[in-house]
Amino acid sequence: MLEKNLAEVRWRIQKACERSGRNPEEVTLIAVSKTKPISMMEEALLAGQTEFGENRPQELRDKALVLGTTRIRWHMIGSLQKNKIKYVLDTAALIHSVDSVALAEEIAKEAKKRSLTAQILLEVNIAQEESKHGFSAAELPAVCQSLCSLSGIQIRGLMTVAPYTEQPETNRVYFRKMKQLLIDIKSKNIDNNIMDILSMGMTSDYEVAIEEGATMVRVGTGIFGERNYP
Ligand SMILES: *Cc1c(COP(=O)(O)O)cnc(C)c1O
Repeated sequence: MLEKNLAEVRWRIQKACERSGRNPEEVTLIAVSKTKPISMMEEALLAGQTEFGENRPQELRDKALVLGTTRIRWHMIGSLQKNKIKYVLDTAALIHSVDSVALAEEIAKEAKKRSLTAQILLEVNIAQEESKHGFSAAELPAVCQSLCSLSGIQIRGLMTVAPYTEQPETNRVYFRKMKQLLIDIKSKNIDNNIMDILSMGMTSDYEVAIEEGATMVRVGTGIFGERNYP
């Protein structure tokens, strides 16, 4: 089942790339394995999946202790409290969910202690939803400027969690705004802002996100099936 799901998601990614004249190699599929057991992750690994996303720091750490970091690139995609940075810093290849200047500063501080440079994305609340984390589009350029002198982090791009919808087309406008925001900030050539990654699109809307320029899509349900929360 899982292997079939993965194949279908990969096929849909391919088709979305064809429709929008993009090279499929520009798009990284992150399998969001939160709440799912190690056994299912092993199954995905066997099917060739190497990038996995988790939204809880301890869950990411615990799974990485079992599965390691050589076969897998781990992505921290959920909200991160300062006291939990330590759980993901040595493990996560990319932290997608940096939603405050204070968090970025703390990540930089902890990374420096370990002689690391943490790769981060800034999370944007593109639809200005009350319930969502992230910077507003308007404040982002100033935020990038203020973080540019911090060693210990490298700002690789932007991430968003678009509004929940069963009609993916309704999110196209937000994905388009994200892409424009990335271009605008990149054009400022701010130090330490690489801006080559755009993480957007989930099970319900990843194809539209790819058509609008996503370089990473985060797909959970579409690969592993529905989640059961205890
Ligand atoms: C859970 C989660 C996903 C995956 O959601 P699905 O709808 O199951 O694909 C993607 N991104 C974030 C930040 C998540 O928390």
